[in-house]
Amino acid sequence: MNPNFLNTPIDYLKRVGPQRATLLKQELGIHYYKDLINFFPNKYIDKTNYYKINQLHRNSAEVQIVGKIVHLKMVEQKRGKRLVATFIDDTGEMELVWFKGHKWIKDSIKLNTPYVVYGKCNWFNGTFSLPHPEMELLEDHKASLKTAMQPVYPSTEKLTKMGITNRVMNQLIQELFRESGGKFYDTLPKYLLEELKLMNKAESLFNIHFPRTTQKLAQAQYRLKFEELFYIQLQLILKNLIRKQKIKGYTFDQVGVLFNDFYANHLPFDLTNAQKRVIKEIRKDLGSNAQMNRLLQGDVGSGKTIVALLSALLAIDNGFQACIMAPTEILATQHYNGLLELVEKLPINIRLLTGSTKTAERKEIHEALLDGSLHILIGTHAILEDKVQFNNLGLAIIDEQHRFGVAQRAKLWHKNDIPPHVLVMTATPIPRTLAMSLYGDLDISVIDELPPGRKPIKTVHRYDSNRLKVFQFIRDEIALGRQVYIVYPLIQESETLDYKDLMDGYESIARDFPAPKYQISIVHGQMKPADKDVEMERFVRGETQIMVATTVIEVGVNVPNASVMIIESAERFGLSQLHQLRGRVGRGAEQSYCILMTSHKLSDDSKTRLETMVRTNDGFEIAEVDLKLRGPGDIMGTQQSGVLNLRIADIVKDNDILKAARYYAMKLLKNDPNLRLEENKVVLNTYKKIQANKTIWNYIS
Ligand code: ADP
Ligand code: MG
Repeated sequence: MNPNFLNTPIDYLKRVGPQRATLLKQELGIHYYKDLINFFPNKYIDKTNYYKINQLHRNSAEVQIVGKIVHLKMVEQKRGKRLVATFIDDTGEMELVWFKGHKWIKDSIKLNTPYVVYGKCNWFNGTFSLPHPEMELLEDHKASLKTAMQPVYPSTEKLTKMGITNRVMNQLIQELFRESGGKFYDTLPKYLLEELKLMNKAESLFNIHFPRTTQKLAQAQYRLKFEELFYIQLQLILKNLIRKQKIKGYTFDQVGVLFNDFYANHLPFDLTNAQKRVIKEIRKDLGSNAQMNRLLQGDVGSGKTIVALLSALLAIDNGFQACIMAPTEILATQHYNGLLELVEKLPINIRLLTGSTKTAERKEIHEALLDGSLHILIGTHAILEDKVQFNNLGLAIIDEQHRFGVAQRAKLWHKNDIPPHVLVMTATPIPRTLAMSLYGDLDISVIDELPPGRKPIKTVHRYDSNRLKVFQFIRDEIALGRQVYIVYPLIQESETLDYKDLMDGYESIARDFPAPKYQISIVHGQMKPADKDVEMERFVRGETQIMVATTVIEVGVNVPNASVMIIESAERFGLSQLHQLRGRVGRGAEQSYCILMTSHKLSDDSKTRLETMVRTNDGFEIAEVDLKLRGPGDIMGTQQSGVLNLRIADIVKDNDILKAARYYAMKLLKNDPNLRLEENKVVLNTYKKIQANKTIWNYIS
């Protein structure tokens, strides 16, 4: 085969004229032969199976049955007529139904002659029926059967309207195979194909488009999924290796005075085993001479802050500065206050820098950063400003990273000649499967254990009609000295409407919880930061018992005395957001509660989300459900990630293949890190093509 065969523009394919070429390009992004050959069916109609009528059940989907029509009749309905055929086989009787095209069907149907019918099975009033079935005389069917599994290609309305039907797609691909002679080079090394008993490339491509049998189809799918995931993993692992080889990092080889003193004398609690393990992992990274790039995952309340502090102390012990960046002013302030308290007895200098830091103070901070007398800087995005220059930044810690983009992370790197070590902390548990594909270039640590003595939060779902009871519950909790959050959704598109909901809610709460007995704080996005802080502070100090807010309080806010979280219109929140919000309570010793308020109108997905919240407190389990409901593309912060434009594999369903692909990619690179071995030549070539093309599936030529 001509090596450039697959780079032939699609216009040159037989049966593709200028009009079809334009359509294929515009609607499906198919520009070259290689795009077409890698345009995979998204489902197959299984025609290998024949059902008997007595095997049908209510949930049967698409079925294929052999039988005869013994009777035809017209049935009058309110809206038009329908043509009903009585269809039998040797096990029973059912109906075939047509709502239009009656004359043509009546004229062409042969009574008492064997047919193969195929269609979606309905069950109604005790009878099974197939509306508008595909029909073929058994005789013709036997003669014509080419492939048992019929591929169905993704399509668009426009394509169908312009005559590029599934059948046409099929013909085009057949044409391409004819021209190619079916010879396609393999893109995986031979020893891997043998070891894993993978189908070769040419056969896989053929069977993905024209499956000979269900088994061959499964083999083809496995091979192509493996390949896709293998090259993604290879890229990620290589990126990580290159970083470790090329990007020198500062070596923190001293576990010095500050770390040891704090560890021995000032830890306010015993660390959990998970915290100890993670600190060890971080210490190992910091002690090597490669730059650390580590993601620390830990559910809300799992105790990430102390890990951040201990890491920062290591930096200072080695003569470096550290910074901690948080996504909101409230959070940055809270970190600052919390850390200030923790290191009270240590001789270190900590400062806070946010958008509302006054000019004079700002100047002081800039100077102290430059002369090195400031050890830990805590702040918001303000830290990223060019004016903020460090003497020697050794460690950058980013809290709640999904709020920050990758670009911002990179910005921190350029504050020095040698990039600082980076620790990214997130409370949004990313399912391992997703983390492996997304952050394969980060090392991952997990705190999978909550500090002892926490009582699991009790979560319930209540309808708006039960509001009076919920209010009574709030009164009881407040009488016990606890505090309550009431959160309203805020979704950008309907901001004004949401604001009105919040205000209406606030008024009704103010009526039911009158001053002076009850004091209420309110925080929302349309307030000035200073006013927000005042309201927040009142709640933190316990001067108000109820905090009415939008999702501003989602992240990180810590008020241990708050024991009730009420989420209004909970059906409008995503799962990870609900989980984050719930994490605001359950931080003290008291039993805490989360009440999800909704109307009666709930979609299936909303129901699943609510049930999941009620069932479990485990952030990872919730993240898995979330991933299944939304698909990986929508998980917060992953939208930009091209990694997830998978063509054939599914990160959730093909988890096992992903693991295998990762394992073999690692093994290969361990053995041959520079891809120099002859046996890995095809990997090197393929990898280069992927790098040049930026997409995984255009490299096979
Ligand atoms: P997050 O991981 O959500 O940032 P924090 O670091 O804010 O969690 O910790 C939550 C609370 O748990 C804090 O009040 C902290 O002091 C406390 N905490 C953290 N680790 C432990 C521990 N090992 N034992 C007891 N309490 C702890
Ligand atoms: Mg935190």
